[in-house]
Amino acid sequence: MTDTSKNVDTDLVKCEICLKEVPKSEAKVAEAQEYVMHFCGLDCYDKWQKKSESEAKEDSQ
Ligand SMILES: [Zn+2]
Repeated sequence: MTDTSKNVDTDLVKCEICLKEVPKSEAKVAEAQEYVMHFCGLDCYDKWQKKSESEAKEDSQ
C-alpha cells in the first residue's frame, strides 16, 4: 500500500472572487450565515469583505 497517487488532503476549492482553484488547506475561509466561502488569498478575501460590508449597510436600518 504505497500508492502516492492517492488523494491526500488536496481537495480543491474555488475562490469566490476570481474563481481560481486552490487547495482547501491553503484557502482562506469565510463563514457566512449559512455557507462557507473560500478565497485564494487575502486579496480576494479582502475584496469580498468590502463587498459584503457595503451590502450589509443596506440591511441595517
Ligand atoms: Zn481569488
